[in-house]
Amino acid sequence: MTTARVAFVTGANRGLGREICRQLAARGYEVLLGSRDPERGRVAAADIAAAGGACHAVTLDVTDAAQIAEIAADVDQRYGRLDVLVNNAAILNDLGVDPTATDEAVLRQNLDVNFVGPFMLTAALAPPLRRSDAGRVLNLGTQVGSFGNLTDPDSPLIDDICPAYQASKIALNAATALFAKELRADGVTVNSACPGWVMTDMGHDDLPDYGDAVAPMSPSDAVEQLLWLLDDEATTPTRGFWSLGEQVSW
Ligand code: NDP
Repeated sequence: MTTARVAFVTGANRGLGREICRQLAARGYEVLLGSRDPERGRVAAADIAAAGGACHAVTLDVTDAAQIAEIAADVDQRYGRLDVLVNNAAILNDLGVDPTATDEAVLRQNLDVNFVGPFMLTAALAPPLRRSDAGRVLNLGTQVGSFGNLTDPDSPLIDDICPAYQASKIALNAATALFAKELRADGVTVNSACPGWVMTDMGHDDLPDYGDAVAPMSPSDAVEQLLWLLDDEATTPTRGFWSLGEQVSW
């Protein structure tokens, strides 16, 4: 059984998830790289392991309850604990769509992938997280999906519309607050963080014309400023929504 801290990251075959795995492996974590496509996961994990890190691919579509149960059992059996869970996997496929034009199937799909999946995965992995000396859960949120920004007419983000994604990420923030309250007694911290606009497939694809404001950060810079929320320090906060190191409005 490893003495390294064990981390599980969802949706990590590309984008921010993959970079989170790379940086955690470089810091000596034993990393479980989640990917819904087994082959893409295997390739990403092999690349990270080739650079000298401990990284293993784990097949997980976050909407698949049977896979979630299997992974929880595997983590328990293999490690007896889980130190870090990063709920990173997400979809964004309704940019610029007004609420009145929202397709029900798209709404349900966003809620499933971006909210129900991470919620059920966190619940399933709560037993091994509780067994860690310093369990850490990080949910990838977004300032576009902040109830504060959505209800503030002066918010600079007020015209960024993607209703299904926004509602799902606001719900994910609710999950953060709920799990943080329940797991606090066992030393498990639960936070949401917005990485900023980052140059990934999501940061680039089908974006409206925001001019120079589009995706200015590299995945590497974005992840570097997130990882403090996974530190095993007693001072690591819980039940917060963070962006670029600052606490921001839910
Ligand atoms: P990408 O679109 O680049 O990557 C998304 C990842 O999620 C992919 O690995 C994808 O897998 C995976 N995924 C999608 N659906 C599922 C599913 N059902 N089960 C498992 N995995 C799935 O996104 P980013 O890396 O840019 O974003 C990562 C996180 O950061 C997201 O939560 C996003 O909302 C958040 N974020 C990103 C911002 C940005 O500017 N990029 C800004 C604010 C927040 P596959 O390859 O199989 O499709």
